[in-house]
Amino acid sequence: MYIEELNIRCFRNYGLARLHFDRGINYIIGGNAQGKSNLIEAIYYLSTGRSFRTNRIANLVKWGTPAFQLKAGITRGAGISSIGLLYQIGRTYLTLDGRRARRMGELLGILNAIIFCPEDIYIVKGSPYIRRRLVDIHISQLSPLYLGSLVRYGRVLRQRNEAIRRGGGRLSHWDRQLVENGLEVMRARARYIERLNALAQEAYGKIRPGEGLLMRYKSLYSDLAPGKEERCYHDGLRSARVHDEKMKATAVGPHRDDIVITIDGRDARCFASDGQGRSVIIALKMAQFMLVKEVAGEAPILLVDDPLAELDAGGRGAVLPFFTERVQCIITATGEDGLLPGKRFMVKAGSIEDV
Ligand code: ATP
Ligand code: MG
Repeated sequence: MYIEELNIRCFRNYGLARLHFDRGINYIIGGNAQGKSNLIEAIYYLSTGRSFRTNRIANLVKWGTPAFQLKAGITRGAGISSIGLLYQIGRTYLTLDGRRARRMGELLGILNAIIFCPEDIYIVKGSPYIRRRLVDIHISQLSPLYLGSLVRYGRVLRQRNEAIRRGGGRLSHWDRQLVENGLEVMRARARYIERLNALAQEAYGKIRPGEGLLMRYKSLYSDLAPGKEERCYHDGLRSARVHDEKMKATAVGPHRDDIVITIDGRDARCFASDGQGRSVIIALKMAQFMLVKEVAGEAPILLVDDPLAELDAGGRGAVLPFFTERVQCIITATGEDGLLPGKRFMVKAGSIEDV
């Protein structure tokens, strides 16, 4: 798939901007603090409805203005789609092919993008929440039904916690719905992580031969006896009830899951070096790339906010083929040094033009 055109209004340090991308490599070139990452963020936002830098959407609005708008023209398969996003007064409005969408979730899976950015290091070194979010966004892009289960699970969890805080009435009612949606979430995550792990192991082996990568799903799910998952989950909730009432929150369930990443059996969160951490990320993203390609039937676009610059020669050699084989790449750079042929955009203080 390709993003052909992007229109920006009042997003971060951009006023009005209009870009036409090439289907191959596109470089966004400019000095520090000119708007390179902001542009990548805009495209990522169109892909996921999220920013990779903030959870506060209001931060994305250009200072001193009331709203931002993004519009993109996308080619998928043989067809063309358009996405429009408007954020104003605390609300986001999504239009798909000119039609107002009912839910933001409808955005997922339309523009599939794999991003490489400095914030990726938190996938290895940060809290479980970051890894869960990565996995959740990605599964939702591949399967729209998953997002439904996830949203329902979150809603029931909040209602159950509310019931606990009010004194514990009707907990069994919430438990039933928690188990039903929680199992759907955990099954999908387990399947996804298994496939991701197989692909990431292969990719990592090419970047750092001789080292073994493993991504393992750490979840209540692995404690549930096969064939008796529902019963076990219910039992788990019941036996944690006294604890839950004391803590005023639900202790058991997929909201506590993690994806444990190890290199040669040791937890990468504690022990990976910077270079190993970056290699894990690259292997993981390559695995996601291949999964999207397999499931959606076409390659996602690549957004690269230049951390590859820090990778040693072995790592660079392993990822380069991705950037050249008929995949659309949008890559930031501070100068011309070492760039491949491709379209160039120059960005300066939120103004962007192609050269
Ligand atoms: P670097 O090479 O240092 O990574 P960059 O070109 O990627 O720089 P950006 O992260 O895109 O820089 O940020 C460019 C500028 O946008 C920053 O100076 C930042 O302060 C500014 N900026 C961030 N948010 C907003 C906003 N909501 N409104 C206006 N300007 C903003
Ligand atoms: Mg930047």
